[in-house]
Amino acid sequence: MTDTQHPIAIGLHGGCGVMAQADLPEAEWTAARADIAVALRAGWDLLCRGASAVDAVEACVVVLEDSPHFNAGHGAALNRDGVHELDAAIMDGASAAAGAVCAAQAIRNPVRAARALMRQGVPMMLAGPAADRFAASVGLALEGQEYFTTPRRLAALRTMRERRAAGTASGATEAEKHGTVGAVALDQDGHLAAATSTGGYTDKPEGRIGDSPVIGAGTYARDGVCAVSCTGQGEFFIRQVAAHEIGARMRYLGENLDTATRTMIETELAPHGIGAGLIAIDRYGRIAAPFNTEGMFRGWMLPDGTMFVATHR
Ligand code: ASP
Repeated sequence: MTDTQHPIAIGLHGGCGVMAQADLPEAEWTAARADIAVALRAGWDLLCRGASAVDAVEACVVVLEDSPHFNAGHGAALNRDGVHELDAAIMDGASAAAGAVCAAQAIRNPVRAARALMRQGVPMMLAGPAADRFAASVGLALEGQEYFTTPRRLAALRTMRERRAAGTASGATEAEKHGTVGAVALDQDGHLAAATSTGGYTDKPEGRIGDSPVIGAGTYARDGVCAVSCTGQGEFFIRQVAAHEIGARMRYLGENLDTATRTMIETELAPHGIGAGLIAIDRYGRIAAPFNTEGMFRGWMLPDGTMFVATHR
């Protein structure tokens, strides 16, 4: 590292919809943790070579979208009609440029489409078939719906439908309901970035859009302050403008990353009684990953190169 280079760091979450330890075979927990490590490594290697934080978070999220263990891309949640509608966003803290797709049905890696929209500038956000067509027009891979479906998501949809019929949907476990993936990074030039990608929640109504693609709600980055990617019932993150609010608390109240993120999860979102979590990074490469559920898939690599990966507390 030269004198002018900043420390690099990267963090990710794989959703706070983690089920009880006993609900998944140990082999699946191990495989999910291995994919988290691969995702971190993908972003970290780019950062080491001098790539931007935006490149790093995109690469990291692509690995998680391709993994069947997380609710994004391959393995995304199914909506009420048994259809995958995918949301994703990316934001560059250096320029405040951002891109997002909502309710896309065919984009293999929605975060790549968000990135392509960010490059374009206007529009920065596309929904539904238009998002799929845009992705095709810039040469991104499209897939049939079956590509995104896994046995676990089919089972989760069956369970949620039964719960809805029995009037017990609110008693569903966090794992049955939702999940998301997201990454935040700090690059050698001191720039911050965030990206988030999700299938939303199981049994969501057609056309429902969550917080992940809404800049300031589930995804936000601002150089010199923080980058944030959220997970949890998106409606409440949108209403709180959660990710931006964390940055605002840091800027206007002088709070540090740890206090601002914990206040969001433990105080601001607490009255809603939802499962909530996030991954965030500040300008020094410090990481915060608060959550109020039994677990949250998460991991990070700190400026000294140490890697941390965890699922539960
Ligand atoms: N935030 C996502 C959404 O509401 C779901 C989740 O993270 O669990 O779409």
